[in-house]
Amino acid sequence: MQTEQETASHTASHAANNAISHTPERALPETLQALNALRWNYWWTWAADGAAVFRDLDPEAWEMCEHNPHRMLRAVPDLRLLQMATDPHYIARVKHLDENFNDYINPKRTWASANKKLAKQISAARPVAYFCAEYGIHNSLPLYSGGLGMLAGDHLKSASDTGLPLVGIGLLYRYGYFRQRLARNGWQEEYYGDVPPEDLPIRLVRDERGAPVRITVEIRGRAVYAQAWLAHIGRVPLYLLDTNIEANSEVDRWITGHLYGGDREVRVVQELMLGVGGVRLLRELNIAPHVYHLNEGHSAFLTLELAREKIANQGMDFANAREEVKKSCVFTTHTPVAAGNDEFAPELIDGCLGETYWHALGLTRDEFLGLGRVKANDESEAFGMTPLAIRLCRSTNGVSRKHGEVSRGLWREMWSEAEIKSTDEIPITSVTNGVHASTWVAPLMRDLFEKHVGKNWAETINDERKWKKGVARISDAELWNAHSLLKQRLVSFVRHRSYHARVERGEATEYAEAARTMFDPKALTIGFARRVAAYKRWGLLLTDPERLHRLLTDAGRPVQFVFAGKAHPQDFGAKTILQQVAQWKTDSKVRQRAVFLEDYDQDIARHLVQGVDVWLNVPKRPLEASGTSGQKVGMNGGLNLSVLDGWWIEGYDADNGWAVGAHPHHTGVEDGGQISEVEQHIENFAVDREDADDAESFYRLLEEAVIPCYYEERDAHGIPAKWLKMMRRSIETLAPAFNSDRMVQEYAERIYIAGK
Ligand SMILES: *Cc1c(COP(=O)(O)O)cnc(C)c1O
Repeated sequence: MQTEQETASHTASHAANNAISHTPERALPETLQALNALRWNYWWTWAADGAAVFRDLDPEAWEMCEHNPHRMLRAVPDLRLLQMATDPHYIARVKHLDENFNDYINPKRTWASANKKLAKQISAARPVAYFCAEYGIHNSLPLYSGGLGMLAGDHLKSASDTGLPLVGIGLLYRYGYFRQRLARNGWQEEYYGDVPPEDLPIRLVRDERGAPVRITVEIRGRAVYAQAWLAHIGRVPLYLLDTNIEANSEVDRWITGHLYGGDREVRVVQELMLGVGGVRLLRELNIAPHVYHLNEGHSAFLTLELAREKIANQGMDFANAREEVKKSCVFTTHTPVAAGNDEFAPELIDGCLGETYWHALGLTRDEFLGLGRVKANDESEAFGMTPLAIRLCRSTNGVSRKHGEVSRGLWREMWSEAEIKSTDEIPITSVTNGVHASTWVAPLMRDLFEKHVGKNWAETINDERKWKKGVARISDAELWNAHSLLKQRLVSFVRHRSYHARVERGEATEYAEAARTMFDPKALTIGFARRVAAYKRWGLLLTDPERLHRLLTDAGRPVQFVFAGKAHPQDFGAKTILQQVAQWKTDSKVRQRAVFLEDYDQDIARHLVQGVDVWLNVPKRPLEASGTSGQKVGMNGGLNLSVLDGWWIEGYDADNGWAVGAHPHHTGVEDGGQISEVEQHIENFAVDREDADDAESFYRLLEEAVIPCYYEERDAHGIPAKWLKMMRRSIETLAPAFNSDRMVQEYAERIYIAGK
């Protein structure tokens, strides 16, 4: 356990370590003792052989416990435990993992420690405080819904890898995000899991005397209390606020019940807890951040708490406090879709915040509400978290170059003509998203990178020349064989999941049994997994059913599709689309080649991005802020077939994938007014000329480029030479540009450091 204590780079962690003696732990045989320490740090989720060491202890218990080592170590039977504890090969693997962990936790040098300019401002004593409403660390910690959470998880992991001092702040949702299953008629049903804190590798944060640290936030006219839990993400601490304590009224206990689960009021209340409660927690823990990073607008109330502190403690007026707050806050916006930008009716703000908040800031009600409006004086506007964040942060950025441009148009009206003459001058920049390579690259592929690029392949990724040279050393056969095996694994996974889902749903035996032989490990396999939101245009694939049918059932050159994704519980249109996809089960040929996997999560995502040949993405331009799943695919050698929007505009180079439809330049959608038209249109599920063109382009590319490239030009060993060249190009070009180490380094150097 001492290694764990050494991770305590912040005063706060001392408190947490006091909790160790309170945690009942199963006594493990001496040879496996290290597993007890390893499970307390999510580092194992991206370490080489990390997940496999836990899985191999007892594969059955591993599946049953949903890949949660904490639960599994309790569940594994004594006999199995002792068998493994006396297996020299397994003992050596545990030992090796433990040694790697100790090296990782106590590094001699990191990217950040070697960066003097950075170290002057950001240090363990003055870290970055990263605020987000969701975190996608691993599927066993269900505190995420989708892309935003995954990005936050990858940000924390890369901060850890690069040695950037950073603490994460979030909420511990007892029931997580809704889970999905389809009824027999294809209609989506939602349910919730229950993950009690004792089942997670998190510890209650305690003070020196061992009492739980508690913060108070006034919400709906009464004091609401929260305790905090600490999770270790490598070297990065993640603090999770939790209102489920007895001191709270029954209603307030469930503030941290469900992620995006309740009505608008629950949202305001959760966001107060995250923003205001988060700052108060940092104070309790004696953490003095150099900068506060608002990852999406959900946490924007934190800026008002910082202003209140300055007014109360330093006697400033609001105008001065606001200027001071601005110096230490930065904001990342994630969506060009109004629905994704949180807005609250003024009455709701009144009801949840009451007068207390604006009084404390020395503002009138109207001045306060003005902070959340695009035009501060326009009383018809709702209170938006994005305008609030833009106003009170010194820096705002979008998540791809295109999204930066779109955001400048979208929020242009926040600045007067006198302040800004053209949209280009709007002070909104961009940092393009990236993904955490060690999390997303398949172990088999990782092995090739280790062998040919070097042990430190993950750090080398950012060195484009070295990376390229290393990747060139992987032989065609090695690359193709690794990919083919990963695809076989995906096919087995699809069969396994589908079979069990069908049995559980009570489907006809013949249909359930058909799952055992569906899919062909040799066929061209296309993945399409994303939220079923209108702008993702699931319907685009269904526009020409006959043409699609021909592609799926072609005996000589078959194509197969894996789908996954959740529809918003209240989105009738999206649920109808899902039902259409599910209806394919009535066609005995199609159902062997097209499948929908229920309950999209990180586990499904890993199988998909590591095993598909092609990743399809056809969002309505310019509504895909970035997208990251295609980046995960690229690192694994899969090829992107995507509309040029979000990150793919920057990633696509004609030799590493395909572009569906027109090039995005000169679409004229930079203007905010036109974007709302695009949105409105798409929300009505209307099909316009551009949709039809993109659909045609998609089918044509598939028929004339993708399928021939995959099936023709095979060499003597059955390897498609041209395809393989593209795979190589995809790995070479996309991994260096779209990994989250690059992203975090860019945030550190361009956004977190103030005054160049
Ligand atoms: C990567 C990932 C996402 C993000 O997907 P995009 O649609 O590309 O933004 C969402 N959900 C899961 C489970 C992921 O792994």
